[in-house]
Amino acid sequence: MGSQWIYLSGEYVKKEDAVVSVYDHGFLYGDGVFEGIRAYSGNIFKLDDHLNRLYESAQSIMLDIPYAKEDFEQIIVNTIRKNNLEDAYIRVVVSRGAGNLGLDPTLCKEPRVIVIAEALALYPKELYEQGLKLASVASRRNRPDVLPPQVKSLNYLNNILVKLESKQAGADEALMLNDQGYVAECSGDNIFIVKNGTIFTPPVYLGALEGITRNAIIDLANENGYELKEQPFTRHDVYTADEVFLTGTAAEVIPVVEVDRRSINNGQIGDITKHLLAEFRRIVTTDGVQCYPEKNKSDVK
Ligand code: PMP
Repeated sequence: MGSQWIYLSGEYVKKEDAVVSVYDHGFLYGDGVFEGIRAYSGNIFKLDDHLNRLYESAQSIMLDIPYAKEDFEQIIVNTIRKNNLEDAYIRVVVSRGAGNLGLDPTLCKEPRVIVIAEALALYPKELYEQGLKLASVASRRNRPDVLPPQVKSLNYLNNILVKLESKQAGADEALMLNDQGYVAECSGDNIFIVKNGTIFTPPVYLGALEGITRNAIIDLANENGYELKEQPFTRHDVYTADEVFLTGTAAEVIPVVEVDRRSINNGQIGDITKHLLAEFRRIVTTDGVQCYPEKNKSDVK
């Protein structure tokens, strides 16, 4: 295995040398934004959407990303190429940068930009066959007027704490409600339920990240003629759903078979879940930015 190269604010450094200041406000305060992205056979899936979300998160917290979007896209493509990767998980981080020990972000003069690309450690196949168990947790999703869930910020304590709670309850994932008791999302994934053939997912303003996978699944559901509604629902609706599944960059489309010890669809993976996962896997190698366009051309000749 050759060494892994990390992009760090203008240069590529070896993994062991990729370090940031202990005064970086990303480290001290979770002050920054990030993205988790995937490449499939050299295609960076929905890279434009990820970059748009990154820039919107940065805009929301008044963090100036020091590159034009097109240049950032090229940096990400180059990081994949430099590490000779085809199937990869990519982590993009823009932190406020080093300041002093006070909170004031205006004293942090230079944001830090990090791109890490790693060969993908896939979720175990059994998870897709057996499904996940969810537990609803006492901690609520951050309110949009406190720390907006639509900002993918480095402050993930809300998500980490519910993950802990769900593990303590003997489940794999946390079902997060918002402060009014409506279902918001899970610790790192969006949620969908299916009832009598109709697919439901909560509107993002209830307290969810606008997931790129979520949006891709909404498109695929529409293209495949399913009725899909972005509509508020409660825990009761999840307990009594015919199918439940989660979506996220790492997880793709992952079935849920148990929620608060209530079995969903007798513990069987539902047909619509299976169909949408298959459809999703069909588009992931084409809908995005190709890192090795020359290679693809010679492949089709
Ligand atoms: N919700 C949260 C809180 C997340 O962190 C993520 C990303 N892992 C998602 C939903 C899913 O978003 P995406 O499909 O863009 O990965």
